[in-house]
Amino acid sequence: MVDVTAPGSVKLLCCVCGEPVPALQQREAATAEFPLCRSFDCNRFVEQRRSLPANLFRAQLEFLRTQFRELKSIQQDRERRISARVAEEERQNQQLLDTVLEHRPALAEGDVQLMVIPAGRTHVAPVPPQRIDNYRTHLQEMLAAAEECISTSAIAEDRNLHYEKDFERNSDRFQRTPELQAVSNQLCAMCRGACCSSGGDHAYLSPLILRRMLDANPELGGDDIVARYLSCVAAETIEGSCINQTATGCSLPRDMRSDTCNAYFCDPILNYHRDSEDAGAVRTVFAVQRENTFAGTIDPDTANDVLATALVTARRLERLPENID
Ligand code: SF4
Ligand code: SF4
Ligand SMILES: [Zn+2]
Repeated sequence: MVDVTAPGSVKLLCCVCGEPVPALQQREAATAEFPLCRSFDCNRFVEQRRSLPANLFRAQLEFLRTQFRELKSIQQDRERRISARVAEEERQNQQLLDTVLEHRPALAEGDVQLMVIPAGRTHVAPVPPQRIDNYRTHLQEMLAAAEECISTSAIAEDRNLHYEKDFERNSDRFQRTPELQAVSNQLCAMCRGACCSSGGDHAYLSPLILRRMLDANPELGGDDIVARYLSCVAAETIEGSCINQTATGCSLPRDMRSDTCNAYFCDPILNYHRDSEDAGAVRTVFAVQRENTFAGTIDPDTANDVLATALVTARRLERLPENID
């Protein structure tokens, strides 16, 4: 089998799966009866021909080729549908922005940054006692590890250590440009903490954070610290999200949250921070909210409609009606 798709090049393809033969083996494969790719399965299959009657081997080879061709065609079709959906969503987002700009002559396109933001869960329900027990157990385990360390500087391995640099970078940016923080806060409020879903019953709290709490509150014992965290859990929380996530946001005061929580921003917001710094200006955000911010990573049959749109500045979040006309 040969591939002549690239002009001027003739590439040998694997006789089983149809993938290209590795470049270094092309010359050798040119005279081989069964050119092969690197796959262990393709090589093993061709190896079996020594123990099979020739016509049976040929029939099995043909069957496998057909299967691979069908599979490839399904994959290509899926990739085409994903690309088409990515392009369609981009077109819809741009069209929504164009409509807003038409109705707001005071806004120039260059003054507005289009951003697709995710959507957090919304269903509120009483916290099941099992979740409180899980959280208590987690806090007690983290506390026991924190009490083993004399100080935070003695902690060399901790999940929250990885966020120290991000935290400093964000703090520097927000100090230089406080509007950037204000816009980010508005966007996170609109999103309702999609990134908090993975906070589960641990809220990213680790020995480092508990050690810091013990050092900052010398009058409190370990049990008091655990009790303080438990007392912050609201009676009703967002189902399927972090135990501290409520309809009005995180119920944990900022100084009790993990560094992960205090430092993390999703890619759309981080890109906005970078773009604003490069441009030396904090632009108004036209936020388009969808369940998933990038359709390229989801199944092409999963719905990803526009859930809401808003114009966001440091001072205000203006939700836009569904039909702006
Ligand atoms: S960082 Fe991103 S995902 Fe997290 S709350 Fe803010 S907008 Fe939502
Ligand atoms: S503690 Fe708060 S900020 Fe952190 S994951 Fe939970 S809800 Fe989100
Ligand atoms: Zn192969």
